[in-house]
Amino acid sequence: TETCLSAIAASGALNAFVHNTPEIAMEQAKAADARIASGEAPAMCGLPIGIKDLFATKGVDTQAGSRILEGFKPEYESTITTKLFDAGAVMLGKLNMDEFAMGSSNETSVYGNAVNPWRRGNEDTQLTPGGSSGGSAAAVAADLCLAATGTDTGGSIRQPAAFTGIVGIKPTYGRCSRWGVVAFASSLDQAGPMTKTTRDAAIMLEAMCGHDAKDSTSADLAVPNFEAMLTGDIKGKKIGIPKEYRMEGMPEEISKLWDDGADMLRAAGAEVVEISLPHTKYALPAYYVIAPAEASSNLARYDGVRYGHRAKLAAGDGIDDMYEKTRAEGFGHEVQRRVMVGTYVLSAGFYDAYYNRARKVRTLIKKDFEDVFAAGIDAILTPATPSAAFGLGEMSDSDPIQMYLNDVFTVTVNLAGLPGVSVPAGLSAKGLPLGLQLIGRPWEEGDLLNIAHSLE
Ligand code: GLN
Repeated sequence: TETCLSAIAASGALNAFVHNTPEIAMEQAKAADARIASGEAPAMCGLPIGIKDLFATKGVDTQAGSRILEGFKPEYESTITTKLFDAGAVMLGKLNMDEFAMGSSNETSVYGNAVNPWRRGNEDTQLTPGGSSGGSAAAVAADLCLAATGTDTGGSIRQPAAFTGIVGIKPTYGRCSRWGVVAFASSLDQAGPMTKTTRDAAIMLEAMCGHDAKDSTSADLAVPNFEAMLTGDIKGKKIGIPKEYRMEGMPEEISKLWDDGADMLRAAGAEVVEISLPHTKYALPAYYVIAPAEASSNLARYDGVRYGHRAKLAAGDGIDDMYEKTRAEGFGHEVQRRVMVGTYVLSAGFYDAYYNRARKVRTLIKKDFEDVFAAGIDAILTPATPSAAFGLGEMSDSDPIQMYLNDVFTVTVNLAGLPGVSVPAGLSAKGLPLGLQLIGRPWEEGDLLNIAHSLE
């Protein structure tokens, strides 16, 4: 814990930790020492980790990367952080992220972006660690902590993991409680671990998941010993390569990474076959209707009364002025764009044309996956991202679609509620980490991590 705290103190340039909690860390570390001395050593006893700023942490700033939650210190602890602390984990502080987890580069954060510890060849250009869990990824990759929590609504665990050369798993929807995790798009949001190895991911995931009566979408299922499932044996597993993911213009190094990954799985005894997920091309448009729709509803609670920031009012201003001014000041550009898109697609005149249609598309996408799993496929292999980490500022705010295209391989998994893991699988021509994604059957995270393990 002390080593990590010193590393964090010297890591200002990465802007990964945004609220440091050294006192809490030392107190938890001492309690962990005592537990170990008494012969009781739960799975994560004494392991120093970082917590994404999206998780409510009792008495500790929880801003979700937004100005509107400035000064908000929750009265309660999220279920996941409670579970992690019960398992002995030590919290070093809160980690940078895109505002309300909306983004793929950490550039929408009120704290300014976190920086990727990796460099492109010998260029000085600062690169994004990805988003929205960019602070988590940068912190783990730069050894500021042993692991971190992330959340993934459309790729926010897997894309930053790929951009920084670490492992990130989004569990099956319902595996991890969402209670106390600031909501973005509730039917898509899932928390998960971001770690250096698949073994660490297995250990941390087990500590994080389990049924929670406080989240009505939390699954009442036994939590397997995921670590014990990492046998390295994948003989006879059937891996699908979805032909629709081989998109036009895919960079050579990404398709090579994908082919090499398939070869590695074959060499380990798996059978690799081509499959079809015919509705893939509709996933991104459906996601960018559904996610903003849910966000516009979830973010209605930030009204200047209940939480954080409230705008200064002029004499004669009424309650509507307070809402308007507070939300105009408190939310950044991307969040405002999503709230407006979301409100539009949910409005009476457009609901059927956009929101309802997107929900139907979502059902078709889910069915594509059900069909291939019913045909005996155990897991699906794809690239995690369409490119290596890009430079900060390289994608402009005026062309959001360019940024949204980052999620092309990851959003399908959230729409279908499936588990997906990104595992580091090679380097780009310029020496940057590249990730492969494996998508698994619902509730089969252990099996999925075991297959991912064979790519390490
Ligand atoms: N980049 C996607 C978005 O901006 C996904 C974000 C996430 O998974 N939280 O919506």
